[in-house]
Amino acid sequence: LSLTKDGPAFHLASPQADARLRERLELEAALYKALERKEFFILYQPQFDMVSGKVIGSEALLRWQHPEKGVVSPADFIPMLEETGLIETVGEWLLNETMEQGLAWVDPDSGEPLHLAINLSARQFHSGRLLQQVQSALVNSGFPVHKLKLEITESLLLDNLTEVLETLNEFEQMGIELALDDFGTGYSSLSYLHSFPLHILKIDQSFVDGIGKSKRLEELLRGIVGLGYALGMNIVAEGIETAEQFDFLRDLGCPQGQGFGLAKPLTASQFSSFLTSSAFSR
Ligand code: C2E
Ligand code: MG
Ligand code: MG
Ligand code: MG
Repeated sequence: LSLTKDGPAFHLASPQADARLRERLELEAALYKALERKEFFILYQPQFDMVSGKVIGSEALLRWQHPEKGVVSPADFIPMLEETGLIETVGEWLLNETMEQGLAWVDPDSGEPLHLAINLSARQFHSGRLLQQVQSALVNSGFPVHKLKLEITESLLLDNLTEVLETLNEFEQMGIELALDDFGTGYSSLSYLHSFPLHILKIDQSFVDGIGKSKRLEELLRGIVGLGYALGMNIVAEGIETAEQFDFLRDLGCPQGQGFGLAKPLTASQFSSFLTSSAFSR
């Protein structure tokens, strides 16, 4: 169904629109069963120290193996998880699963697990259960709290501010570092950087993409890295695909990075082999 442009009357949509709607509803119905059918799995994208080239941690990325459609992109199903509220249970599962898994990846130098970055969406903050879910996952797994990073986006900082700020402050007090994901793409307000307890800036891929192509984007990158340093924040560049991008960012002083050019998101067992074979180096 769709709204016609001449008034509030509804009319039957085109067959194509109808098919799209049906497909969406089917996907949503399948999503409800996906958790118990164990169709979700997690990929881990290695994150690197830009100077030593060592793997220092990973970002957990959710995947859905649909029985007929194959692997569905997070861009398609994460918004649906949020709209339906299913993100609360799937998110809880992911917290437990990744922290148990993360214990296995120990840095031989420090003897401690590599860090683990987990994406959170606004709906999880508004459930009232997020803090408790994170705490129990930490307790159940024994994963070290100071190795956990939680990634949020600028859109979270738009509403229910007192509630969100309280939770962020609790996380900070626990010793968890908070990362601002996709920095520079959302509703960026520089005031966020001093109003919220944020420890890490993740530079969005759209800036990294401009390296070698746009002087203005390169200058913006320089500015973002400088800003991060001035505020005492850690900086992680996302979406590094080429050697040129890597070199540019390293020369700017960007301390950490991830991207297909360094390593693609890997299954847990692939990540384990990657660590062994690469001996933690690029
Ligand atoms: P994000 O957190 O910004 O994750 C980075 C995305 O960029 C990932 O896409 C990753 O596969 C992709 N990527 C990394 N390096 C490169 C590169 O060099 N080139 C290109 N083209 N892409 C690269 P993915 O896995 O499709 O995730 C998309 C978004 O879905 C994530 O963006 C995040 O916002 C959301 N997401 C993923 N997993 C979770 C989750 O467990 N919970 C929540 N709430 N959101 C999630
Ligand atoms: Mg992220
Ligand atoms: Mg991002
Ligand atoms: Mg993103």
